[in-house]
Amino acid sequence: MQVPFFDLKAQFTTYKSEAVRAIKQVCESQLFAMGPAVAEFEENIAAYCGSKYAIAVSSGSDALLVSLMALEIKQGDEVITTPFTFFATAGAVARLGGKPVFVDVEPNSYNIDTGGIEEKVTEKTRAIIPVHLFGQLAQMKPVMEIAKRCNLAVVEDAAQAIGATQDEVKCGNFGCLGCFSFYPTKNLGGFGDGGLVTTNDKKLAEKIKLLRTHGENAKYSYKTIGGNFRLDSIQAAVLNVKLKYLDKWNEKRRQNAVLYDNIFAASEVKPPKIDSNNVSIYHQYTIAVPERDRLQKFLAENEIGSSVFYPKPLHLQDCFGKLGYKEGDLPVAERLCSEVLSLPVYPELLPGQIEYVAETVLKFYESD
Ligand SMILES: *Cc1c(COP(=O)(O)O)cnc(C)c1O
Repeated sequence: MQVPFFDLKAQFTTYKSEAVRAIKQVCESQLFAMGPAVAEFEENIAAYCGSKYAIAVSSGSDALLVSLMALEIKQGDEVITTPFTFFATAGAVARLGGKPVFVDVEPNSYNIDTGGIEEKVTEKTRAIIPVHLFGQLAQMKPVMEIAKRCNLAVVEDAAQAIGATQDEVKCGNFGCLGCFSFYPTKNLGGFGDGGLVTTNDKKLAEKIKLLRTHGENAKYSYKTIGGNFRLDSIQAAVLNVKLKYLDKWNEKRRQNAVLYDNIFAASEVKPPKIDSNNVSIYHQYTIAVPERDRLQKFLAENEIGSSVFYPKPLHLQDCFGKLGYKEGDLPVAERLCSEVLSLPVYPELLPGQIEYVAETVLKFYESD
């Protein structure tokens, strides 16, 4: 049985005619930049997330960048985040001359270990970026308490978590800004790049809107220095269609996760842990296992796709060499990089496929 790691084509057939119609509308209007589809998408996402404001931007990476620009993060400012995330989280800080300060992660949820944050706060610390990894929120109560005590901004990297909740509140509403990505393989993916910032702060919303178009406050008049961070109308049109199905797709992923959990329950393979106050959207279903590379090879031999997120922690990347981290500094993240394996969990998987994947994983350890 073949089980690819993900299969966007299987999903495309379920909404294809609607998406093609929506794209055609944009083509007929020829309003490709900031057309009505973008405003409509912003309204839809604000309603979906329960945020007052939503500002669509060009990518998740740009959502982070423009958020930090709005907070005026500059040369020498320190921003605390996790080393176990996609590069863009820390890249955004460094692009503004800021210094990413990495705090190790919690071994079960894979999210930032909030108990390690406060000791890293210095006079230069300006913000914390918790990442809601693999579809589950980092614990926001302690993050917000530290932020309040130390007067820091909190930017949620919610690129992998749209629709996920903690204590029944959707991500993107805890910090002052929430950053989302619509990269095609994300739970809500466009037909290219896209992103968005949520906020409940009117001033920040206005600032981000300005920054999105070069800081232009009136035609050819520039109040501040921004960039071109616009979302294409065609992306917004597609995302408007797909957003209607997001909850259903996320629910399917959760059901798939339960199937895996049940099969792994009686074995040595530990299912990913979801904190009791969280509802995950399972952007990834990620196990941490010994002999990860050999397992991945075994799965490939059995026509099962899998992926490693992430093989190298950010504090040990060449580009951050100047920050002075060395191996052993953040041991949990480092260990996870050699143990984690993400299994197929996309909504269109059939129960028989999941059973096959899970049983093949178990077979690998039995035959050892
Ligand atoms: C995907 C992702 C981003 C970046 O989003 P893009 O749309 O690819 O630029 C940022 N942070 C995390 C955690 C991500 O998974």
